[in-house]
Amino acid sequence: MSKKLGLVQNRYKRELGERDGRLRAVGVSFLNAQPHLHGLLSGMGEDRMQVVLAEPSELARRLFEDEADVGLSPVVPLAIHGGFEIVPGVAIGCDGAVESIRIVGDVPIEDSEEILLDAASRTSAILTRLIVRHRLGGREPRYCSRPAREITDTVRGKTLGLLIGDAALEAKGRFAHELDLGQAWKDMTGLPFVFAVWAARPGVLSASDCQLLQQSLQAGLDARPAIAQAWMHGHGGDVAAHLAYLTHSIRYVLDERASAGLREFLRRGAEAGFLPPAELHFAGEPAPARLPQRRSIDALLEYAADGGRISLEDALWLGHEAPTHELGLAADQRRKALHPDEFVTYIVDRNVNYTNVCTTSCRFCAFYRPVGHAEGYVLTREQLGQKIEETLAAGGIQILLQGGLNPALHLEWYEDLFRWVKQTYPIKLHALSPEEIWHLVRIEDLSVEAVLSRLRAAGMDSLPGGGAEVLTDRVRSKIAKAKCTSAEWIEVMRVAHRLGMRTTATMMFGTSDTLLDRVLHMLKIRELQDETGGFTAFICWDYQHDVGTRAVAGETGTALYLRTQALARLVIDNVPNIQTSWVTQGPGIGQVGLRYGANDMGSTMFEENVVSSAGTTFGMDATQIERHVRALGFKVARRNMRYERLSEPA
Ligand code: SF4
Repeated sequence: MSKKLGLVQNRYKRELGERDGRLRAVGVSFLNAQPHLHGLLSGMGEDRMQVVLAEPSELARRLFEDEADVGLSPVVPLAIHGGFEIVPGVAIGCDGAVESIRIVGDVPIEDSEEILLDAASRTSAILTRLIVRHRLGGREPRYCSRPAREITDTVRGKTLGLLIGDAALEAKGRFAHELDLGQAWKDMTGLPFVFAVWAARPGVLSASDCQLLQQSLQAGLDARPAIAQAWMHGHGGDVAAHLAYLTHSIRYVLDERASAGLREFLRRGAEAGFLPPAELHFAGEPAPARLPQRRSIDALLEYAADGGRISLEDALWLGHEAPTHELGLAADQRRKALHPDEFVTYIVDRNVNYTNVCTTSCRFCAFYRPVGHAEGYVLTREQLGQKIEETLAAGGIQILLQGGLNPALHLEWYEDLFRWVKQTYPIKLHALSPEEIWHLVRIEDLSVEAVLSRLRAAGMDSLPGGGAEVLTDRVRSKIAKAKCTSAEWIEVMRVAHRLGMRTTATMMFGTSDTLLDRVLHMLKIRELQDETGGFTAFICWDYQHDVGTRAVAGETGTALYLRTQALARLVIDNVPNIQTSWVTQGPGIGQVGLRYGANDMGSTMFEENVVSSAGTTFGMDATQIERHVRALGFKVARRNMRYERLSEPA
């Protein structure tokens, strides 16, 4: 191992935390995982390992966010992360037909226009896309993510669906056309497919830990009749069918052929741009040389600047080790590739905070007032109307409407307000962050989809990405216990995109977050963008903490801001636009940010209350914004929220 790599791995290990005592193992509550868990759940090795069950996406989150030491993980999250060790010899896979993962529809996939995917299973989604591309000679239908429970009933005509698990088994024979993806993979490659493996960070598992996991599986394989029986009692279905599935459809061995199938999947996924390049590394083997094609920081920066997808491990490596100016150069190269005409855009709009009354009490926020406070306000229509008229008079096209979580304001209040705005003024409403949407979901006891649909019908055009802060729950719960979780924030954005709305993504860092938290945040945005394509832009800034805030400042500052934005441009390879944050950093650094991956100057703002309440008060009008852009040799254009240019350069 090189000295540099050793340093990075040590830092990485320290950041994830050292553990003593029992290992924390996470499994999934699917039938095909039960043989793996049987021995452990029966008490085998209980002095060494404790086991909990979770959904696959939650399992990956726990592994990534250091809430678990070893997990029976789907293979795609492991490739996205990079650097995990796999327990040799055991897996969940198939060698031909698997029954439980199938594309179904009224027409064959060759005639499909749309395929509905279950967002929770990224491994199956990428497998689907690889197989469909292959069968359609490179053509792709439209992909749309849906909750698993909705897919079966939504499949009709040229809209097909990917069914997984019980839904796939129960739908057998119900559709005119069914494609078993295990069989389709074998037809395409001649190889078995591997869905999941036991994985852990390097050095966590000893040889005896691996043996324990292998023995647990062996006990489970011997107990398949009892497992099938217990599954029937708990979940229904037919014992013989369950036993046949465990015995004939699922393959539990990770031998040379299965490893070759897994490598082939990772290779094809990377070649298609769905995955970062990933290599298999088994626990107990000597650490391999780093990816041979990318031995140095320079080569990795070049790879990312050329549009190569990087893993979490590589992003951490760059974030820790890459010199700031070289990160900037790589991000600038990427920006130029995405926006070759050298235009920088901005929007003329106004930030309006309709209320400062809030029950969340974020520790970084000096703007809010608790319920009943003498300084609490809700804007009247006259006040809001005046602000909109001023915005229109200055050439503005949109208001960014956000506020506190005020329990006195119900969904009807927002609907009435939005209808009134739209009936009275020709202006776009970029309104309500996911945090505010969740607040309405809770107080109205409605679904996210119902709340968003009603607001959209009343006139909401798009959603700002506020309230994200850093999308790991460790950080969010330290900012405020009442904040929505990172999964809830993502879910609002997923549903908004599905309903056809465009949104932005933000990141406010610099409280208790580390580089790992910030990179995990970037990957969550990239992952949802892969799924929906609904984000128009990403904006980051650091915590402004001069006046009236309560959170202790962590890693902040101009250099870190520029590094973070540049890293975001490289990691979030699928969101087209990056805004520089001159409102928090000042016009000069905002301008420099245009050479650190940004292609947009954000908004004229007119009015800003949240960061200015904390003592940061920068302002620029359209003329000043344009002057700062041109001074760097860029052309400048106004835009709308969808980043469509509204004017040619003067
Ligand atoms: S940041 Fe927003 S949600 Fe948090 S306390 Fe301030 S107004 Fe409330």
